[in-house]
Amino acid sequence: MDKEKLIAQLKKIVGDDCVSAEENVILECSKDYIGFRQFERGAGKYFVPRAACVVSPKNADEVGKVLSFLNKNAVDVVPRTGSSSVTLGVEPREGGVILDGSKLNGVIELNETDMWVTVGAGTPLEYLEGYLNKRGYTTGHFPQSLPMAHVGGLLATRSIGQFSTLYGGIEDLTVGLEAVTADGEIIKIKNSPRRSVGPDLRQIFIGSEGTLGFITQATLKIFGYSPETRWMNAYAVKGMKNGLKALREIMVRGYRPAVVRLHDPIEMERDLGNAAPEGYCILILLAEGPKAVTESIGCGIDAVLKEFDALDLGKKPVERWLEHRNDVCATLDEHKYYRLGAVVDTCEISAPWSKIGDIYEAVLERMPREVESLVSIAGHSSHSYMQGTNIYFTFGAMADKDKPEEVRGVYMNIIRVIMEETLARGGSIAHHHGSGKYRTRWMPQEHGSSYEIMRKLKRALDPNGIFNKGVLFGDETD
Ligand SMILES: Cc1cc2nc3c(=O)[nH]c(=O)nc-3n(C[C@H](O)[C@H](O)[C@H](O)COP(=O)(O)OP(=O)(O)OC[C@H]3O[C@@H](n4cnc5c(N)ncnc54)[C@H](O)[C@@H]3O)c2cc1C
Repeated sequence: MDKEKLIAQLKKIVGDDCVSAEENVILECSKDYIGFRQFERGAGKYFVPRAACVVSPKNADEVGKVLSFLNKNAVDVVPRTGSSSVTLGVEPREGGVILDGSKLNGVIELNETDMWVTVGAGTPLEYLEGYLNKRGYTTGHFPQSLPMAHVGGLLATRSIGQFSTLYGGIEDLTVGLEAVTADGEIIKIKNSPRRSVGPDLRQIFIGSEGTLGFITQATLKIFGYSPETRWMNAYAVKGMKNGLKALREIMVRGYRPAVVRLHDPIEMERDLGNAAPEGYCILILLAEGPKAVTESIGCGIDAVLKEFDALDLGKKPVERWLEHRNDVCATLDEHKYYRLGAVVDTCEISAPWSKIGDIYEAVLERMPREVESLVSIAGHSSHSYMQGTNIYFTFGAMADKDKPEEVRGVYMNIIRVIMEETLARGGSIAHHHGSGKYRTRWMPQEHGSSYEIMRKLKRALDPNGIFNKGVLFGDETD
């Protein structure tokens, strides 16, 4: 569709001030924090397709009218809220539309009896957490991107927070939601503590990454806020596989601290101020809730870790981690790694306990052989379950500052090794960042025979394929 006509029609639906074709607004909304795009931005060359405009509807009715119009005219649309995606999730299509949720912003209802809060999809998580804290509550959801992410994006990516072992991921925290499909239909999934009335429809939109509909509202659980009763302690354990065994033991014996982290010896030295002796991993543990509960969790965990000859490092490393855990958000746009000529990032996967240690070792062993300019490869586990855990690989490689167009190749070579080793050894290729556009080629392998159900859902809810092309589905040959 002709760009001028497209913009004029959208302005008719939402008003002149809710459509922008300004270059800087479009670029800001297309912004993504995946490592290689960060490098490109550092070089001042951002190789991102240019959308025709950004449209910011003020309510679900307007979202419906916008989508109905785009659908009839087969115009590509990419939803966005906080743009803190690290997977090319908000990268637009050339000439397409960015559907921005920022005007769907604010608390709609705080229900202190049923312990939930209903908010617009464009509500910043940091604002919501502050609003709840003032009233004695918390969301219990603390992703590192808390200062950046908004509610719609959190649901759409199946986000997880640093205190997830106690509170769960966003899929556990969502009581109900409202979304709009490509044909403009507004769908409300009502709030309920639990029900048995067919498959859980919330989960169609949670994790759909803007491919099946636009989330306009969510109702999230709230919890009493009482950090003063926290128990916290750090321990050192020799070797990553041994550390993973210790984590497993904590989980299978039934302890539920809020934070359970295990950093390998490389990260312990590099990121956690050498808090443990050389060659040791560091365990960061924190429990919160009523005092009697946190004290007994602390006591039990201490006894488990004594069986692993763990060294007690006290609570200082945990306090340090707590204080600095989100610092990275404020420095992302300084491009300090680009100035050093390095592309750096993280990549998270998950696996059952029986497989996770082998995946970690295989990636660390293979990476230096296949990535010539590799500077570092390390990892930590930050979210544990009774059945397994995740590994967040952290990596850095040198790239040519004068040839930013080549950095994507270096980056994707690193991702390829992680994806291949994870799939070959029975893991899952994304624990919480989602597929975005960069992991799509591995989705058929990840899902196996169940991928067809995903395709059928896509065809049913978005028959013209206007929503976020290339994410989860699509060009699997990239
Ligand atoms: C420094 C840093 C740290 C991070 N730490 C974490 C972490 O600890 N845990 C974690 O889970 N993630 C983390 N992330 C990733 C990111 O913050 C999450 O994926 C977050 O959920 C994205 O929210 P957002 O509002 O920024 O969404 P966006 O970036 O705007 O969008 C993300 C995806 O959701 C889709 N989407 C957005 N809004 C809607 C909507 N209303 N309806 C339908 N689809 C929509 C988009 O199309 C896109 O595919 C981190 C990112 C950064 C940069």
